[in-house]
Amino acid sequence: DGSLVDLLEAAVAKFGDKVALEFFGAEVTYAELGRQVDRAAEGLRRNGVRAGDRVGLVLPNCPEHIVAFYAVLRLGAVVVEHNPLYTAPELAHQFDDHGATVAIVWDKVAPLVQALPAVEHVIAVNITSSMPLSKRLALRLPVRKARAARESMTHPAPGTTPWSEMLSHGSLDAAHPHPVAHDLAVIQYTSGTTGVPKGAMLTHLNLGANAAQGRAWVPGLVDGDEVVYAVLPMFHAYGLTLCLTFAMSIGARLVLFPKFDVDLVLTAARKSPPTFLPAVPPIYDRLAQAARERSVDLSTIRFAISGAMPLTAKTLELWESTTGGSLVEGYGLTETSPVALGNPMGLARRAGAVGVPFPNTDIRVVDPDHPTKDLGPGDRGELLIRGPQVFRGYWGKPDDTSATLLEGDWLRTGDIVEVDEDGFVSIVDRIKEIIITGGFNVMPSEVEATLKTFPGVTDAAVVGLPREDGSEEVVAAVTTDTLQFDTEAAREFARSALTAYKVPRRIIVVEDLPRSQIGKVLRRKVRDQLLAD
Ligand code: ATP
Repeated sequence: DGSLVDLLEAAVAKFGDKVALEFFGAEVTYAELGRQVDRAAEGLRRNGVRAGDRVGLVLPNCPEHIVAFYAVLRLGAVVVEHNPLYTAPELAHQFDDHGATVAIVWDKVAPLVQALPAVEHVIAVNITSSMPLSKRLALRLPVRKARAARESMTHPAPGTTPWSEMLSHGSLDAAHPHPVAHDLAVIQYTSGTTGVPKGAMLTHLNLGANAAQGRAWVPGLVDGDEVVYAVLPMFHAYGLTLCLTFAMSIGARLVLFPKFDVDLVLTAARKSPPTFLPAVPPIYDRLAQAARERSVDLSTIRFAISGAMPLTAKTLELWESTTGGSLVEGYGLTETSPVALGNPMGLARRAGAVGVPFPNTDIRVVDPDHPTKDLGPGDRGELLIRGPQVFRGYWGKPDDTSATLLEGDWLRTGDIVEVDEDGFVSIVDRIKEIIITGGFNVMPSEVEATLKTFPGVTDAAVVGLPREDGSEEVVAAVTTDTLQFDTEAAREFARSALTAYKVPRRIIVVEDLPRSQIGKVLRRKVRDQLLAD
């Protein structure tokens, strides 16, 4: 039951010469990663970071992100992750909330972070500096940009400290106290799918436990030999655990991508064929499509894991028939570090189920209006979860915390589920997004799943729009890959598959659906847009 730092140090001792990180072909071994973390910790200490302080990270996936992450933790301080593509008001909201005064940021967003009132010290990372020159050239950075990138290495944005400065002071004294398992490690903001993002407090124990549970989930892993592809961002709980801490715990080679890009992934696959790929359905769709078109072999991927949103049969079949490997679905929330349920690997699949509880994880199904009341077998109700991966509460929000963490450490998930006789859980929908049509409740996921099987529909979001009588009407926004999409035919199709009250009153073709940082469709925003039109 060590801290995440203890886990990393154990990996450094065990896998020293193995490659820990790969970024555009450049490699960092475990031994080198360990050295850089110790140096960066000393640099941060000299810059005033102390145990318990929050330090904001505003970085895409890159080696410096990993070093900064562990260096902050090494000091007993708390990492707060942020999406580097967030706007100034979004970042301001989060920094006001957690109050970090030191931020380690992608140099492109340094001016934005510097302007935040709470931030006193910005440490700027020049990401291209850790790419080999040939890669920078291969990326064809225009000359002007390449020069600007070079200059920013020697002349960082005024008032910021270059990251390289952190590594220039020698190593932290080995006697400096280590964090312990129960210390707060990370404040991870929820996606904000249903409201304003809240900062989930995750301890070393929470995150370490989830990496260990992940390890128990995946049979036949070979320590020191796996190649994990980090196409998911580390600033989301999914990427943080299933890519970073998981990979470090098994001595894997972690190949980092600053963003998901089919070409980058397929190029990297030629040098270091992936064996483990955690991702989301839209990524599996695009990768499989591209691999098919270009006849790229992705059969090295033994473990492909889908989560965060429903996986359709279409995506599953496309992936499995293209790669020959299996795609396994799991379920979780930021508040569970994030994985709580998973389908057992290698067993017959249950259509639509997200799996069974992870090791040491208990579940209950309760009446959402009376969450202390357990429901009978087979009844639909709200899922409660208890386990070592369940978070400590929301940063600075005791009321939200007590509404979410019930007596006995049971977490309210806000998801309606159904459990079959063998204990397999299916997600029906999110309580907050259920549509009340007047008497009947409509689960948007069910309608979306139906629409997605209609030819030409590439994605769908179903929402409730207010009617004058106070009830809601079902409206669907869809994206399509056909030029002449017949919305009436789509409604006719929905009528043949769904009870009348579930059939969308209107189907509206849109160019794009608004998505969260990890690619989840934001129904709340779809609704706002439809209301504004
Ligand atoms: P917010 O709480 O701020 O609205 P969010 O809940 O979307 O944001 P996350 O913690 O990223 O933030 O998402 C957790 C939610 O994602 C779960 O509660 C569930 O609704 C959904 N989810 C996760 N995995 C799956 C899955 N396999 N199938 C369907 N839904 C899933």
